[in-house]
Amino acid sequence: MKNPKMVRICPTCGSTNIYWVAGGLIGAIYKCNDCGYEGTFVLEVKPSDLQRFQKELNSESGDNKQD
Ligand SMILES: [Zn+2]
Repeated sequence: MKNPKMVRICPTCGSTNIYWVAGGLIGAIYKCNDCGYEGTFVLEVKPSDLQRFQKELNSESGDNKQD
């Protein structure tokens, strides 16, 4: 186990549907396809912890998606 792959997830909704949109002096900017979050901060978790994080994030913020 020398290089465990970390998974980037949205800090708002826990989605893995997040992608890198820009990078520069301030660092990379990521955007979440699910909730629209955009920012430099994303969570990096181990694949084995992914479900736990998503569960925590979902129970924390509830399901208040705006449409
Ligand atoms: Zn999100």
